[in-house]
Amino acid sequence: MARSDAYEAVIGLEVHAQLLTRSKIFCGCPNAFGAAPNHNVCPVCMGMPGVLPVFNRRVLELAIRVALATHSQIAPRSVFARKNYFYPDLPKGYQISQYEQPFCTGGYIELPNGGSSPRKIRLTRIHIEEDAGKNIHASGYSLVDLNRAGTPLLEIVSEPDLRSPEEAVAYLKELRAILRYLEVCDGNMEEGSFRCDANVSVRRRGESRLGVKTEIKNLNSFKFVEKALRHEIERQIEVLEAGGTITQETHLFDPERGITKPMRSKEYAHDYRYFPEPDLPPLEVPPSLIEAIKAQSPEVPSARRARYAQQYGLSSYEIEVLTQERDIGDYFEALVNHGVDRKMAANWTMTEVLRAVNESALPLSRAVPPAAETAALLKMVAGNEISLNGAKTAFAAMCKTGQSAVEAVNALGLTQVSDEAQIAEVCEQVLRAEADKVKEYRAGRQKLFGFFVGQVMKAMKGKANPKIVNEVLKRKLDS
Ligand code: ADP
Ligand code: ZN
Ligand code: MG
Repeated sequence: MARSDAYEAVIGLEVHAQLLTRSKIFCGCPNAFGAAPNHNVCPVCMGMPGVLPVFNRRVLELAIRVALATHSQIAPRSVFARKNYFYPDLPKGYQISQYEQPFCTGGYIELPNGGSSPRKIRLTRIHIEEDAGKNIHASGYSLVDLNRAGTPLLEIVSEPDLRSPEEAVAYLKELRAILRYLEVCDGNMEEGSFRCDANVSVRRRGESRLGVKTEIKNLNSFKFVEKALRHEIERQIEVLEAGGTITQETHLFDPERGITKPMRSKEYAHDYRYFPEPDLPPLEVPPSLIEAIKAQSPEVPSARRARYAQQYGLSSYEIEVLTQERDIGDYFEALVNHGVDRKMAANWTMTEVLRAVNESALPLSRAVPPAAETAALLKMVAGNEISLNGAKTAFAAMCKTGQSAVEAVNALGLTQVSDEAQIAEVCEQVLRAEADKVKEYRAGRQKLFGFFVGQVMKAMKGKANPKIVNEVLKRKLDS
């Protein structure tokens, strides 16, 4: 047994998700990525003396959506707290967060488990807070951009329930999918709207006590989360195997070298001296608001997966692909609702639609034709008017030009001949012209069948319905 098999990894994740509100959490500044530095700012989010924060109610609505989707208990009353630390991107000298009385506790997220019952990952808490600004480091000096300061965040903390880097990534993907389905966060890890700190320890298998953990920061892609955790787990096992002990510390992931290294102690020696925020009243959540939001909450990925299995009888792989993003599943369902066979709709969405989306880098709704047009195209296939390959060609053209199905099929001359009499006539001509080969075929050279099909297709400029060509040729040659 490899010595690493004697150990088990234990992982808990802290995710920060930026909320898709129009304005910031405590002021009216736009909450938008990509503006010129220090343009989306005002005295409140710049931390000028004497200003007062005003809580954005939209934040509460989005937070309730997440709480409901994660089966969390919403605190009827939670308290904002000041988390004090000094850093140039935090002009007030404290971050408004929540501490002892968070917005909600005790939820869970279910991970799809390839057919077996889903894995439940418990959530410790979800709390509401504001984001800090950004330091931009140049050579010899740093610049501060406060556009991000005051962006509403949810911090979602998991229990140490995850057992491998792969499972940690599966959890992150599921959480991200939930937030995107709910339209509360765009989940963009590169732009930092979905960020993750990973806590990890190892222990001998069978041990029930938790080992000492380290925390890894600076993980801005799923790949880095997996790499950093794998590296850190190996490092901890090596330390323990050498008779050493793990020190509780914070590590930074270095994506270039694929390793983690401890931050200087100065950088993490925090004593936040939390205290209740005196400028904001406790956050009271009216039960009527929870009910109202519950009534209009969109479907979450796990519910959709269960429904797809029931309603459409799809395989777990098909379900996984079709539910990864809400708009993909919506498109599939729209095709079915327009009368396309469910298997055909699933295949087409998983191959042609996803290809078009990936190639265009546009959102699905702008990368592919409306589902009604695609359905019209697929009905031509079902009705033998065009071939499947013809439909693929037409679809690619429709994506590019915005043509309707009929326009694309006509423009490309893809209409297929399914008239049996017409096909039979061409078959007859081909067999007459190739009398020698027909003899060879009948003497046992079955391989020649493909040649005859090819000749007929050639004579009909590729537009004959291949199924009918095959049937007619078989009949004529075998008679
Ligand atoms: P801290 O005191 O460092 O803030 P917390 O107990 O608040 O630690 O937990 C922070 C995160 O670390 C949570 O996601 C939790 O699940 C995880 N965690 C806590 N202890 C461990 C451990 N021994 N191993 C791995 N993860 C842990
Ligand atoms: Zn502002
Ligand atoms: Mg903590």
